[in-house]
Amino acid sequence: MKAKDPNCSFCGRKKSESLMLISGLDGHICDHCAEQANNIVEKELGGSPESITDINSTTGEKGGKKLPTPIEIKEHLDQYVIGQDQAKRTLSVAVYNHYKRLNSKKNNKKSDDVEIEKSNILMIGETGTGKTLLAKTLAKILDVPFCIADATVLTEAGYVGDDVESILSRLLQVANYKPELAERGIIYLDEMDKISRKGDNASITRDVSGEGVQQGLLKILEGTISNVAPEGGRKHPDQKYIKVDTTNILFICGGAFDGIERIISRRVQKQELGFKSSLNREIQDKKLLSLVSPPDLRAFGLIPELIGRLPILTALEPLDKPALMSILSDPKNALLKQYQHLFSLDNIKLSLEDDAIDFIVDMAFENKLGARGLRGICELILQDFMFEAPSQKGKSELVITKAIAEEKWNRADSQKFAS
Ligand code: ADP
Repeated sequence: MKAKDPNCSFCGRKKSESLMLISGLDGHICDHCAEQANNIVEKELGGSPESITDINSTTGEKGGKKLPTPIEIKEHLDQYVIGQDQAKRTLSVAVYNHYKRLNSKKNNKKSDDVEIEKSNILMIGETGTGKTLLAKTLAKILDVPFCIADATVLTEAGYVGDDVESILSRLLQVANYKPELAERGIIYLDEMDKISRKGDNASITRDVSGEGVQQGLLKILEGTISNVAPEGGRKHPDQKYIKVDTTNILFICGGAFDGIERIISRRVQKQELGFKSSLNREIQDKKLLSLVSPPDLRAFGLIPELIGRLPILTALEPLDKPALMSILSDPKNALLKQYQHLFSLDNIKLSLEDDAIDFIVDMAFENKLGARGLRGICELILQDFMFEAPSQKGKSELVITKAIAEEKWNRADSQKFAS
């Protein structure tokens, strides 16, 4: 007798009508139903207790994750970012307040409650001083979706709307296309100084594109509902856009604001007219940036409305030699630790003598390469060894002296590092 064509126990489709029929103890499931079941499971488990949607209590209530205190946030930042104490403190408080605000909004439905306004952040500091690293590390601590966007790409397109959505689309992607997760995320918006109006005298030399981009940013910084194209853009016209509300997305903006020290200095000196000598040297150079205030940003070319939406302002200090030295060897994933690990995979113990380390730091400092330059210099010094050592049998130790470092630096095209 011919065996009966089995069918799906859920939809009744015959085996011959489906791509695949999976057998269980007492029944079968076809590929269609298996896919649908998978979708249901994903939807149901979407907001797992570990997700950010559950950082909704400062106490870590049942099923939720505890929101770290400002001190805990700073301690965590200390493990990855060297120095920048003031910026770390400001950021820790700002981020803590931001998520506390979200929680109070969620738990308090009374209409007469005090509405705490969103506080986006602007970080000012030379390139390579740790702005991106700070924002990235913060997002990691809080376990929220995070993406980095560049304010300058908004200029190139001319039409702001589309690009603003492209930033949100990246955040949505990181959040696995769950808008409710993306809506509690952090966006790091880099190169904010590049969209300023050109020149001090903004009303005469009006740079429309810069100002246009700034205007376009106002809405998303404050909070708007944006229609974001789904994964890989819309494939056909009736595919739905995903709505993302930016009200609770924290924007951390950053920029080098080259030359703003001159503006600050002019303002401070004007205020201290007649007491110029009281401006000690320290304030004149290094600490000047820490005195930055909204009028300076305005003079630099940011429009007042944008400055108003970035109420938390903090400056990062230029990295001095001890800071560079510490970056080279102290953080959890310090550069030297990374190289030592790389060599150890070939059973080679790498060590650098103290004066070789001093030399690397001196070169980075004198050529104004900052922390980013440290990697290039190490690469330049170690490249020949990384090329040869793995094929030199029996070699188990590599000691880099100052003489070796100097020789490699001088021989290589170190000119390319010159500022
Ligand atoms: P920025 O955004 O200010 O231009 P980044 O945060 O991208 O600079 O820093 C570039 C690299 O330099 C980082 O990947 C990091 O390795 C290193 N770095 C910069 N500043 C610090 C710092 N304060 N502490 C530790 N590492 C740093």
